[in-house]
Amino acid sequence: MDLNFINNVGTEQLHPPLKLFNTLRSVHNVKSFMGVRGPTERIEMDHALKRYIFKLLYYIALDNGKDIKFLFPDSNIDFNSLDELLDKSSSEETDFYRMKSSQMNNKHSFKHSGRNCGRKFKVGEPLYRCQECGFDDTCVLCIHCFNPKDHENHHIYTDMCNDFTTGICDCGDEEAWNSELHCKADEITNDNDSKESIEEHQFNEESITMVLTEALNYFLDLFNQNIESLPTFTKDITMTLRQLTQEKKITEVKSFLEDFKYKNIFADEGSQDQFTVMIYNDEYHNYSQATTALRQGSPDNVHTDILTSKIDSEGRAMLKCSDDVETLMAGFFAVQTNGLCATLTSWSEFVHQETCKYIIQWMGHCLTIPNSNFQSIFRDALGKVLTTPGDALTHSDGPLQNIHQYFPNKLSGTTTHPHLDLSILNEFNRIPQGYHQTLPESSLHSISNTLNQTIPVEEKEYANSRLQLLLYFDNRFWKKLRKDIQNVIIPTLASSIIYKPIFCGQVVQIFNHITRSIAYMDREPQLTALRECVVQLFTCPTNAKMIFGGENGYFIDIVWSIIDIFVEFTKIDNGTLVWQRVQKSNPTKSYGISLKQGLYTIETLISKVDDANILLRPAEFISVVTLCKLFNGAWKIVRKEGEHVLHEDQHFIPYLEYTTSIYSIIQTMVNAVVNEGCDRQLLLNAIRLINSFLGYKSLTYKLVHNSHEIIKFSVAVDRVAYMNPIHTLFSFLIENVPLVEAYETIIYQDSNSAPQLPVVPDSLTFNAMLQFKEEYEDKLSQSFDFLKISDFSLRSVVLCSQIDVGFWVRNGMSVLHQTSYYKNNPELNTYSRDIHLNQLAFLWEVDDTPRVIYNLLDRWMLLEWFDGKVEFKDTEYKDKISLIIQHFVAFIYQILTERQFFQTFESANCKKMSQIKNAIMYNLYTKPLSYSKLLRLVPDYLTENSTLFDLALNEVSIFREPKGLADNGVFKLKEIYYSKIDPLRVSNLGNEFESSASIIKKHLDKEKGGEESKIILQPQLVPPKNMDDGAKLLGSFTRHPVFAKIIYKLLQVCLDSEDGIFLNELLHLVHGIFKDDEQVNGKSSFPDAYLSKPICNLLLSIVNSKTDVFSENIRTKADYLLKRMITKRQEEVFDSLVAGFGDDYVQQYKNRKLSEGVNLEESERERKKRLAKKHQERLMAKFNNQQNKFMKENEDEFKERDKEDVVDEEGDINMTDSDKIVEGEDFTCSLCQDESSTDMYVIPAYHDHTPIFRKSRFGDVDEYLKEWNGFDNDDSGFVKELEDISDAVSNGTKPTRKVFVSCNHHIHYNCFKRYIQKKRFSSTAFICPLCQTFSNSVLVVHPTVKYQNGMDISIGGNPACSALGNSLATLNEQEKTNLLTTFDAVLTDTQYFDKQFHKSKYRSIANAAEILAVNFANTISMLEIASRLDKDTNNTFLVGKEQRFKTLKNLLIFIIQIYKTAGAPEVELDWVSKLHRDEFKNEGPACRNELFQIIVRSCLFKDQSLSSCIEEVLTVYSQLFFEDYVGCALSNREFNETWNYVTKTYEAPPAVSEKVSVYMDKLIVKNKINFEGYSEVNLEHFKALAYASFLKQILPTLRRCFILLKTFQLVTSEYEDSQFIIDSINVETSLIPEASSSLKETIDRMTSILAKCDNIDELIINEIAADQLPVGYEQVSDEYCGVVKLINLSKYLNTYVTDTNAIRLTEENRRSRNSSNRLDFKICLTCGAKIHSRTDRHEISKHLSQNCFKPFGAFLIPNSSEICLQLSQPPSSIFISAPYLNSHGEAGRNAMKRGDLTTLNLTRYEHLNKLWINNDIPGYISRVMGDEFRVSILSNGFLFALNRDPATRRRVPPTNEGDDSEEEEFGGNGDDFFTDEDIDEEDRFRNMNGQPGDVRDFFQIFQTVRNAMDNGENVGEDVDLTTPFLQLFGQQFRGANPNNDNDGIDPDEPFHDDTDDEETAW
Ligand SMILES: [Zn+2]
Ligand SMILES: [Zn+2]
Ligand SMILES: [Zn+2]
Ligand SMILES: [Zn+2]
Ligand SMILES: [Zn+2]
Ligand SMILES: [Zn+2]
Repeated sequence: MDLNFINNVGTEQLHPPLKLFNTLRSVHNVKSFMGVRGPTERIEMDHALKRYIFKLLYYIALDNGKDIKFLFPDSNIDFNSLDELLDKSSSEETDFYRMKSSQMNNKHSFKHSGRNCGRKFKVGEPLYRCQECGFDDTCVLCIHCFNPKDHENHHIYTDMCNDFTTGICDCGDEEAWNSELHCKADEITNDNDSKESIEEHQFNEESITMVLTEALNYFLDLFNQNIESLPTFTKDITMTLRQLTQEKKITEVKSFLEDFKYKNIFADEGSQDQFTVMIYNDEYHNYSQATTALRQGSPDNVHTDILTSKIDSEGRAMLKCSDDVETLMAGFFAVQTNGLCATLTSWSEFVHQETCKYIIQWMGHCLTIPNSNFQSIFRDALGKVLTTPGDALTHSDGPLQNIHQYFPNKLSGTTTHPHLDLSILNEFNRIPQGYHQTLPESSLHSISNTLNQTIPVEEKEYANSRLQLLLYFDNRFWKKLRKDIQNVIIPTLASSIIYKPIFCGQVVQIFNHITRSIAYMDREPQLTALRECVVQLFTCPTNAKMIFGGENGYFIDIVWSIIDIFVEFTKIDNGTLVWQRVQKSNPTKSYGISLKQGLYTIETLISKVDDANILLRPAEFISVVTLCKLFNGAWKIVRKEGEHVLHEDQHFIPYLEYTTSIYSIIQTMVNAVVNEGCDRQLLLNAIRLINSFLGYKSLTYKLVHNSHEIIKFSVAVDRVAYMNPIHTLFSFLIENVPLVEAYETIIYQDSNSAPQLPVVPDSLTFNAMLQFKEEYEDKLSQSFDFLKISDFSLRSVVLCSQIDVGFWVRNGMSVLHQTSYYKNNPELNTYSRDIHLNQLAFLWEVDDTPRVIYNLLDRWMLLEWFDGKVEFKDTEYKDKISLIIQHFVAFIYQILTERQFFQTFESANCKKMSQIKNAIMYNLYTKPLSYSKLLRLVPDYLTENSTLFDLALNEVSIFREPKGLADNGVFKLKEIYYSKIDPLRVSNLGNEFESSASIIKKHLDKEKGGEESKIILQPQLVPPKNMDDGAKLLGSFTRHPVFAKIIYKLLQVCLDSEDGIFLNELLHLVHGIFKDDEQVNGKSSFPDAYLSKPICNLLLSIVNSKTDVFSENIRTKADYLLKRMITKRQEEVFDSLVAGFGDDYVQQYKNRKLSEGVNLEESERERKKRLAKKHQERLMAKFNNQQNKFMKENEDEFKERDKEDVVDEEGDINMTDSDKIVEGEDFTCSLCQDESSTDMYVIPAYHDHTPIFRKSRFGDVDEYLKEWNGFDNDDSGFVKELEDISDAVSNGTKPTRKVFVSCNHHIHYNCFKRYIQKKRFSSTAFICPLCQTFSNSVLVVHPTVKYQNGMDISIGGNPACSALGNSLATLNEQEKTNLLTTFDAVLTDTQYFDKQFHKSKYRSIANAAEILAVNFANTISMLEIASRLDKDTNNTFLVGKEQRFKTLKNLLIFIIQIYKTAGAPEVELDWVSKLHRDEFKNEGPACRNELFQIIVRSCLFKDQSLSSCIEEVLTVYSQLFFEDYVGCALSNREFNETWNYVTKTYEAPPAVSEKVSVYMDKLIVKNKINFEGYSEVNLEHFKALAYASFLKQILPTLRRCFILLKTFQLVTSEYEDSQFIIDSINVETSLIPEASSSLKETIDRMTSILAKCDNIDELIINEIAADQLPVGYEQVSDEYCGVVKLINLSKYLNTYVTDTNAIRLTEENRRSRNSSNRLDFKICLTCGAKIHSRTDRHEISKHLSQNCFKPFGAFLIPNSSEICLQLSQPPSSIFISAPYLNSHGEAGRNAMKRGDLTTLNLTRYEHLNKLWINNDIPGYISRVMGDEFRVSILSNGFLFALNRDPATRRRVPPTNEGDDSEEEEFGGNGDDFFTDEDIDEEDRFRNMNGQPGDVRDFFQIFQTVRNAMDNGENVGEDVDLTTPFLQLFGQQFRGANPNNDNDGIDPDEPFHDDTDDEETAW
């Protein structure tokens, strides 16, 4: 190696490769990088170095600078040569490579023509999946590529990319997509020609390749020598240094360091280098530990926290540097003493390392340049350079020489692979041989109990490419560098068609190396590149095929590499090798990471196999099973006795976690076999192989009854395992072959090659079988005993039952959780497999059935009792015996009846269909469920095929539409299917027998109309003709005399002890036995064994038992069975009965049969339940009073609070009649219930601004010509920006714009004050004590007396207030004074309902009436505007809405009472207008309904009749209107356009009447100028249009007048019976017009009632108005007269997510990072703004307070299909489902989950609109939040801000589901604590790939839990540790909740917060 010549040539003339070679390797000699320096200077140097490297590499790569202008067209290149450039490198001006962000974000940038996209996702960006197009759910598209047109009607689902998500876009990858996609980036045409030409430029591939080659060679050369940070060396190096230092051998220290530093030909020999201490990241120190450790090392940067965070983000940092090594030593050791990893690195090496870092960053930079030509060339070159098998390191000096010199024994140890074990290259600088193994032929015939013999594979060839070296060196890089390398390599190669397979091949070659490295040699194993490699490569079918295919044996190598690691943690247990929990200290958790990674790899690969035969090939099969069997029975538990355990044993967690993963691998394998089909011989061979493992255990036997050898084992004494995945696999495999063949395979186990073996008879009749066995006894495998296999399954079953009944109570809760997880997890499907194997035992050990029965009894620990050695009450089970028998009977029943594994089907699909239907039926029969909920309950393997699933669902269930604002549609089981439900089957494992039976009976009862108690539930048995031949005699064991004896003894026990606990089940079993006998032996058959024992006598005793002994159900069933016996064997049965009971007794029975009497005695269960209920009622009594009453009254309105409601028929808020009336006047105090008290009453009220008063768009014809036609949503695709919203927003703060909302609940004022004080509310922020509606004021109310029937519109010359005052009860002076005091107090609290007024000189109680009158007018206007959403509103706006009218009435009473008590306000001063004019000087009108405000004030306070008030105001307004209209007329041209539009869009408005025409002509003449050019016709049109506009403009005010009058009428007459009659006209009916009256007719009719003129025209020409504007009218403005509502929404929610460009939204914050690509935005429904997430999560409150209507808002969150309702004061928010439903009737997150298309539901949206318009959102929020809202008020949102984690936020649960908590066992096992049901498990478990619910999630959770347990601290990401953990385990696991022992009061029960109670702890 002689490269010295390099130095001798002038640098400028050098050949570019050489130039690059030299420059890089001598970078430490560049002046500005030489020499140690302080922290600040180091940062500067860092920047300079980056520039230097970027410029250098770009310059050479771009053809020596020639191409710079093509790649960076905007840059100015002001240099002539590379040297000049490098000299100036530190100046920013020469940073030609910097691109403007506009250039980066250019849509063209993302074109990837000619290659796959491979774009990495950025935070906040969506990833798109398509169920129809994607190959699997790892296939995703980025926002630039996703083209909605490709996926019309497809199931698209999106995920938001977050910090934990990784992945690249698969666009262009043909394998990823089932159909051809059209990348959207390609569709965007490039209209910029010059740009085109730049893109056309061909870059010099050669120079790019050369730069990449040289740069990577240099990179690898550096890291080849860099071993100091390797975990295999750090310790040794430190020890050596420590020793040398202690011995004060400083020279040796220096030369040691010199020797280990990076060297190349440019190193200056002999010169002393300077040194640095580098600290490396690890994952096992937390922040504060690290900081402390760092301080000890006395860093040169005083800001230790900066150092710590740099170590965390970068992965390493420099502690300090110095030119004197000695000064560094102390810190170097100190830091390491505290556990951190540190190296002493020379300064020059540091510079080189940083250089390498920038080389990689430069590559990353290249990959982002938006030039597709450059991209293809660069990516190609990178692929080639990385993958070329090569000699990258031929000129490199490895570390070997140093190792030999300093650590000779490291290489000469006993290991066979010294280089690999040290994680270094071998002596040829090549990758050393791995530990490859393969199975020799001799190992392929059986599976050993330990490990099959393998032979090492020597001399594997590796590519030794740069890629492989980088992967091999992976553990040498620090965190950031490691990630950068992965981000450069993996997306680039994995998205390349050419390099992806090569990449995969090279990874697979050194899979062994990488796996070992993760497990043993990695400081940060979680950062391994392998994970992403597996995700990107092994999921691709072509790659998987390659891995499985050919002679390379890659798959086997991979499996054995993984087994190798697992074997490290195993032990021999009873002769079998099993896995054992990792007990070694392992701070990096590398073993766990490596083991999980291994299992994940295997599962991924297996799931991609397209040919199941591959998996069954002996070598592959044995390898996978070898891995799995390490977990077969690995976790054993022992029953504890004596003291209770104090600490729950947590060791089970890793076993459960890995074994679950193993089950999942097995499931994947079996899926392949079932779905793809496979070769029968291979399958049988697989069975034989497993049998060789399972069937040959040496077990101890014992002899019973001197003749039967059974297995000796006791579940309660011996160590016992419940998880046996290999047994499960065995059962799976047997299920998939004919039973006879499986049997043959097993019994001929040892002699598989013998050709002349007899064939087992086809039909295994009992005798044929016995005969066969006898004949061929000698040829059979001698030791064959199927009990050896089935007994393990039996142990699991018994164990689960024992734990269930509490026999293992001393072992603590954890065993209960474990076994219920095992038993009840439908995915594992383990329990039914255990039953299957026990069925096989009865079938295959047929020659000695008693032996199997005895073994069964013995395992259940019942044999001694059976043999009569122990009394029933004296068994080991003690008092638990009855419960254990209950389980035992159920188990026997299941052995007899579970036949799905033996059932024969026409096709695999038929089988699946039947399984699906079964699963649906058993999940639906107890209660209807929503689609998602059902999907969660049905195992995944049944829901994979959604078409099949939907088909089945459709067949067995009925869909019921959602009804409320927050519920989902549900599926209900069809009635006819109830008869198919068998409560004792495994499918019903989760439910108790008797309650299930009664549900079924109830439904059958409905069907048949019979008597519930007389219905006999039939056992559901698959008839033998539909079963495998080999299983037809499944039930024959039940007919054996020994078995009949069991039944007899059990029945006897029940009678003796008069205990019916298991009798229901037992009789059902007997029923099943009889039925099975009939099916097998014919209708008339009856099993003799049941006659030879007097079982019929026992049945009769049960039938005749006293009613308090056994329930009616039991006696009915016994009776039924007895009858059945009698019909078949009448003589024998009666003989037996007579012998037992005597003739008379039997005769009596016969007689009674004739006159069937029914005893209605309740069942035991019901009796218990009743007692519990009684208990509950006592407890509830104190809460009951007013709450219950209230609930009843408001059933509809507040149903959503009623979570306890079992009847799921009810919706939440009932949308159709939410205004349903509270009947009658109810003056009862909500708090004290005292009706007699004379205290003043108040009602709570919410007084606030409203966003609905909007300015008219005056000239906008749409506003007034569009008819009001109820609620409508314009989904034409975009959101119109509302101009007038600014008005609503800016004026939204004016006091005259406030309205009142109230729940109208009466409270004594004094009670109210006490309540406020006690609850620590304030009188301006509290919730109604009755209904929890948020309120901020109270209104003083008063009862009314009936005054007169009907009213006179022309109520005399007195103000209405004084007239109406007569209907209020009169007060004496004292009462008046009291009242005034109360008024004063209430008004002071609320600042007189108007701050300006409060501050002004006008303030007085009397004047307050006027302020209230304004708000009263506003509230009326609100009601009017809200009613525009109704259909046919002009006829219906007065009907219904009782709650709102009641509020109006109460408000009016308040005003009247003030008037009456305090006197008249000073109306004539017009101070209200003045007040607000002063305050808001130059702003527009304060409100938009001033006109109506004037009417209200005049009516109430002026001495004028109502009609003349109204008439006057309307006349003035009409004239003002026309003057304005004519004054602002359009020019002729504009008018023509407008008119054209009108005639095109609407029916042309009719011509005006003569009178009006004349009137207008006068005005037109006055404004002649405006009408220049108008033709005669145009003038007519103009007038028509003006008139049309006028009519619509006046209409709201007319309607409001009617509402006002109706309110008057409500005050004057009793509420109930009154009709709204004015001057003997019944207004409500008279307003309903004849068929089709026009708007004009309606208005005329209204005018005639209100104003005593015949029509509106008369009003206009009325001459009462003076020329001068009357006082008070200056402020009158035009109000918007269209329909006011929230913004229009898109028809499909998907559109927001998939096609954002189609929707035009106002961007609120354009500057937010990457905003155009982000999908995590919200849409303000008030103003239509698009609001991006802020990191502080305050985006919504910011929007409200700065840009929108302040008090409250509603926001659509498109990506989660939710609406966020937000209240500003106190800050509170809730989340409800968005008004979009999918085809399954589901809303919210559930609706989106599977990519279903969700469509806008108008009814729901309308309801939300009404909530919003009526200012009801605050009240709704508080009612939903309940007590939480109280916290909000008290803390004023402080807690709220803390609690903003979206995972814990408050959601409205759908009301009609999720109540798994039906209180069956009241006060029982506390299942009802997880009311948060609706937060989906999946949501919490969303994993790295965003796929919910797979095995990795499981790991994730366990990891979290374990971390928490290990460290005893929060891990930060997931604070709520227990919940997901518990939820994972399903229902049973929830018993672990410490709150368990409650006394039956649901903490979420809405109204239990009683005010009389003592204050709860705050
Ligand atoms: Zn893409
Ligand atoms: Zn694309
Ligand atoms: Zn698609
Ligand atoms: Zn009271
Ligand atoms: Zn209330
Ligand atoms: Zn807004």
